[in-house]
This record gives sequence, structure tokens and C-alpha cells, in this order.
Amino acid sequence: MSDPTVTPRFIADAMLGKLARWLRLLGYDTLYSQESDSIIAQLARSEHRILLTRDRELAARRGLRVILLTPTDFEMQVAQIHAAVGIPPLTPRCMVCNGPLSPISLEMAHPHIPPHIAATHRDFQQCQQCGKIYWRGTHWDGIRSRIARALGCDQAPDTNSGVHFTSGENRRQ
Ligand SMILES: [Zn+2]
Repeated sequence: MSDPTVTPRFIADAMLGKLARWLRLLGYDTLYSQESDSIIAQLARSEHRILLTRDRELAARRGLRVILLTPTDFEMQVAQIHAAVGIPPLTPRCMVCNGPLSPISLEMAHPHIPPHIAATHRDFQQCQQCGKIYWRGTHWDGIRSRIARALGCDQAPDTNSGVHFTSGENRRQ
């Protein structure tokens, strides 16, 4: 039984790393596990996460809420998940570690970002867990329109979150 008031949380199996990153970008708490099927199934049960897999055997394990993904293309996979449980864009999470993001000032971001980014950007977000810093980049518009297509939206979704991505690989020292 699904409760539409509860934001779905996911666990993606080892084959679905790219999908997991996209779901985090959409704002969904998504674990990515390369552990054995037993451990993945256990985690899904104990943390009440929806299991995402293309593996019928794993999907058939007992006591799981599963979305058995049929498309191989990850944009189509996003569309299938959206059709199943509804995943409108929320405030993005860290694509790397699934941690929550918080706004930080230019001053705080400055030591950790390239000079040309500091000169041209004002809105920064930092992962509270791994320290990765995000900012709006030209890549972001491309990502938004791809997500909009995958979700079947006419227009690129606006997260209203003030979070803007693309980011370098910069981490807190
Ligand atoms: Zn992180």
C-alpha cells in the first residue's frame, strides 16, 4: 500500500548507478548498493525503500516494494518510476553521496572553487555530508530539459530550490 503523502525513498542495485545519481538530482533519497542481493533486499526492507532493479530474481524476493525496470535507457527508467510512484522534482540532494545540500556564501565557497566560477556565480550549495560544492552551470539547463522529457513535462521542471548544479569535483579540504 502506498501512501501518497510520503516521499518515496529508493535503493538502486549495482547496475543502476547513473539512475541513482539522477534520482538524487531530482531530490529523492536514493541509496546505491553494490552489495549482494541479500544485503540489498535487507536494506530495502529495513529502511522501507523502494527497490529499483532490472533483475527479476532480486525483484521476486519476499517483502519488498519493487519497481522492476524494463527499459535499459535511464531516461525511460526515470519515466517508468514517475509513472509508478510520481517523482516530481524536489530540492536536489548530493549526486555523489545522497547527502542533503545547504546554501553557502560565496566567501565560504571561494577557497574551494575555480576563480572563474567565483567571479561569475553567486548561488552555491554544499553537501552537508561529503562537502561537495554545487553551483549553476550551463550544463544544468541541459539536465533540466532531459529530466522534463523523461517525466513527460511540457516544460523543464523548476525545483524552486535555488539549487543549481553542475559543479566541479571540489570538496571541502
Ligand atoms: Zn555529498
